[in-house]
Amino acid sequence: MIRLESYLSGVWQPGKGEGRAFVDPTTGAALGTVDSSGLDIAGAVAHARARGTALRAMSFAERGALLNAIADVLVANKADYADIARRNSGNTARDAAIDIDGGIGTLKYYARLGRTLGAGRALIEPGEDQLAKAETFKARHIWTARPGVAIHINAFNFPSWGLWEKVAVAFLAGSPVVAKPASATAWLSERMVRDVVAANILPAGALSLVCGAGEGLLDAVDRFDAIAFTGSADTGAMIRGHARVMERAPRLNIEADSINVAVLGNSAAVGGDVFNLLLREVTNALSVKAGQLCTNIRRILVPRDKMAGFVEALVAKVDGIAVGDPALAETRLGPLCNDGQRKAALAGLARLTAEARPARGGDVPASVNGADAKKGAFLAPTLLVAPSGQNLSAVHDVEVFGPAATVIPYGSDDEAVALALRGEGSLAASLWVDEAAEAARLAAGLAPLHGRVLCVDPVVGASHTGHPIVMPQCIHGGPGRAGGGEELGGLRGLRFYSQRTALQGSPAMLEAVAGQAAVAAL
Ligand code: NAP
Repeated sequence: MIRLESYLSGVWQPGKGEGRAFVDPTTGAALGTVDSSGLDIAGAVAHARARGTALRAMSFAERGALLNAIADVLVANKADYADIARRNSGNTARDAAIDIDGGIGTLKYYARLGRTLGAGRALIEPGEDQLAKAETFKARHIWTARPGVAIHINAFNFPSWGLWEKVAVAFLAGSPVVAKPASATAWLSERMVRDVVAANILPAGALSLVCGAGEGLLDAVDRFDAIAFTGSADTGAMIRGHARVMERAPRLNIEADSINVAVLGNSAAVGGDVFNLLLREVTNALSVKAGQLCTNIRRILVPRDKMAGFVEALVAKVDGIAVGDPALAETRLGPLCNDGQRKAALAGLARLTAEARPARGGDVPASVNGADAKKGAFLAPTLLVAPSGQNLSAVHDVEVFGPAATVIPYGSDDEAVALALRGEGSLAASLWVDEAAEAARLAAGLAPLHGRVLCVDPVVGASHTGHPIVMPQCIHGGPGRAGGGEELGGLRGLRFYSQRTALQGSPAMLEAVAGQAAVAAL
């Protein structure tokens, strides 16, 4: 049995208790335990805060080189990581690549940004404001690294990408990190950090890892720290309301769940390119990473007169999804992360099926390829169809974190926007249209309640990156129910770990500061 350890104050250490078991979701067999009880987590946070200053002393180019070095270590061990992702997350090779390559790609992207920024340690916004009649008193805005530590609390579904997309931005901003992966899938995060630590490329205190429940982690936060949380809305609400968090008021970024929509436009011809691209996208939503993506399509809005054709074509696609052991080359849909997640998904489906009929799935499959459907955490790909857009409640509100989505009919643009907004704020929406004018109308309506809107028309065609895929160039996060957070987005992501200061003074002083900084508009 594997016993995961935490990397605290520069030392790998096991927890003092028995810990929680983590499993192979394909068989249900226990793989090991994870535990952080009895560890000096507060001491580790203080160590990171004190020793992590080494990162702030590095230039952007040096921080970028560090990110590159981390990526190189990870690339060298990719095959081992894919094996862990299959065994502990039930990932197919494709699922594992999204998580592992996604993490490596984001590190490399931020490494390139660091190289571009060069020798500075601060960013200065372009342009200056004149504050007096004479040209002798002006202001510019600079961004500098805050003296705190970044506390990253991550969700179970991306033990690689979730870890590194946050580390990449924090390190480039000059902030040390204490990361806490979700217990169910912490093995991959632990193994990756072990490899990076062993490569001896990290400055002391730059990266710590808490494997386990993280007892006392939130009690250790202080004023200049930044907490970036990804997970369920319930845990996010608990963190917001935590007494120490409220009292010390660290920066707080919450990435929670959402009931994302894909909208087939009225302009999209049945059987046309865009129509078929959406069919492919929804088939991916019901198979890739077993549907466990926070940005995944949960609701599909389809013009009333196209419903029958769309559902018929989609059912045929869903019937082609091979469910089973993720080690088999033909498997497209592996198990959920564990039986607890399956129970939660089934409970959610019980609420959704009170409002929408299952056209396919809705339960544990009778059989799957190469595994026992009940012992493993398998769930059938589930397509629900709502009779009308009206009188739906759970469909707009309950996130079934698995391979499930609901098709909902609509009429006008306004109705589509009104239905999308019933989700009360989401991470990502996508529009599938033949006419740019329709995309523009819908996008204008959807933008205020979404962090990202993907518009697929015949010009974008098959070159788009997909509804759920988070690109480091674009911000990730969403308003309202989605948590109100914002991550990534190129240099925009650095804001969270940096202090913006209005610097007022003489042109000569401002020029001297600018000479030491990299000019960038955040
Ligand atoms: P979760 O149960 O909320 O857990 C998220 C993280 O919070 C885990 O690391 C968990 O640790 C930790 N946690 C729970 N209680 C804590 C406490 N008292 N103090 C410190 N940490 C605590 O969510 P999940 O089941 O892992 O993830 C699934 C959910 O995340 C879905 O709803 C999904 O939509 C959402 N998600 C959102 C995004 C996004 O970017 N918006 C991305 C991925 C997932 P333990 O595992 O040790 O309990």
